[in-house]
Amino acid sequence: MATSAPAPTCNSTTNGNGISSGSGGEDSEQISKIGIGVSEGVGRNQLQSQGRDSILMSENSGAGNETNKKPQQQRLSKTQMKQSSLEGSDFTFGRQNSWRKRICERTRRSRSMEEDYGEKSAANVTACVDLIEKGLYLGNKDTACDIQWLKHHSITHILTIDSCPLPTKITDLPFVKTKYLQVTDMAHEDILQYFEETNRFIQQSICNEVIPGNVLVHCYYGVSRSATIVLAYLMHKYNISLEEALERVKSKREAIGPNHGFISQLKLYEKMGFHIDRNSPVYKRFRLHMAALKMKSVKVLPPPYTDVIRPDPALFSVRPEPVVYRCKKCRRILASGSNLLLHNEGKTPRWPAFLSEPEEGTTSFCTQMHFIEPIVWMREAGHNLQGKLHCPNALCKSKLGSFSWVMGCLCPCGAKVQPAFYLVPSKIDRSNSVLNLQITL
Ligand SMILES: [Zn+2]
Ligand SMILES: [Zn+2]
Repeated sequence: MATSAPAPTCNSTTNGNGISSGSGGEDSEQISKIGIGVSEGVGRNQLQSQGRDSILMSENSGAGNETNKKPQQQRLSKTQMKQSSLEGSDFTFGRQNSWRKRICERTRRSRSMEEDYGEKSAANVTACVDLIEKGLYLGNKDTACDIQWLKHHSITHILTIDSCPLPTKITDLPFVKTKYLQVTDMAHEDILQYFEETNRFIQQSICNEVIPGNVLVHCYYGVSRSATIVLAYLMHKYNISLEEALERVKSKREAIGPNHGFISQLKLYEKMGFHIDRNSPVYKRFRLHMAALKMKSVKVLPPPYTDVIRPDPALFSVRPEPVVYRCKKCRRILASGSNLLLHNEGKTPRWPAFLSEPEEGTTSFCTQMHFIEPIVWMREAGHNLQGKLHCPNALCKSKLGSFSWVMGCLCPCGAKVQPAFYLVPSKIDRSNSVLNLQITL
């Protein structure tokens, strides 16, 4: 072996059939997710929705799909076990389930009233919507579909975070501006990516200088997805912690309960100072984690995630950083210091556990292998689950390392990094870009 450092073990490289074999369980989850999306698009009734809730909860626990027939008690105990590991969260799925049942019950009563009294049900629908603060309502889908209620409360904007959009009878209303984001209530859904635009939408609707409006933020029950969006808005607006935002919203709407994946994303949002910091190492890891899930299910990096592949630091258009990593053989710049993804010695970086890991510089990080972000010159990384990394210099093409989106790689220190894009230390040089520029001149 030409390398002096021990190479990390990529499971994928030893598996000739790695692409299909590595993605079985999660794929079935994705298939069931697609199936759910389709069924929701055509006449969803309450019974279906309750069924979906159970499905979502079991998916949150990583244990089920639509065909899972395990007793509910068993599913709950699993999710509760997982939930108990969440730091600082007082949510349990048992409680969430009970809240959701109550919301379902309120919705059922509301519908029954609607059948009996027609449009006069508007007052009853308010049971499924709450005023969080001046101009900001948080509620369920029924509320968003009740034209009388919308008129009565002078709603000017509706923000829908659901699996399917509102009917055209609502979106075509002349007095309401609507915005729709397709998000399912699953822990592995990336809802954080929408915070900036949802904050802007809510802010613009409420704080309109000419005519201050009223905005209704809703999902299907007004419990998880829409509550997450409202929490993010309050955190950003008032610079308050997740805990404080939860207190505020729960004081107005007790039945909120974002799923544990959304809670983790709100914690990340708080850690980043209530804005999306694309240079934050934790955020980079989170995005790569989400991108890897997409790669696993669709085998190609979809457009919302192409930004995880970073610009080539060798190009003149990219501002040079003080520290760069070069191919030892031809001196071509391969990565900048900021492309490095550090991990603690022997500790596997897992989402969301790495949220609570120490910041860079406060502990000793592993230096046995250089794990980096995917970079544009890794041409195969956007459409292959795994492969080798060669020097992009056509005259060099030295083998530098490997990548694996799904299986990940085992660092010599014992940490399993997934997804992994690594350069073998013996194949590259760490150098100062300014010094090298002087030498080149
Ligand atoms: Zn080279
Ligand atoms: Zn390591």
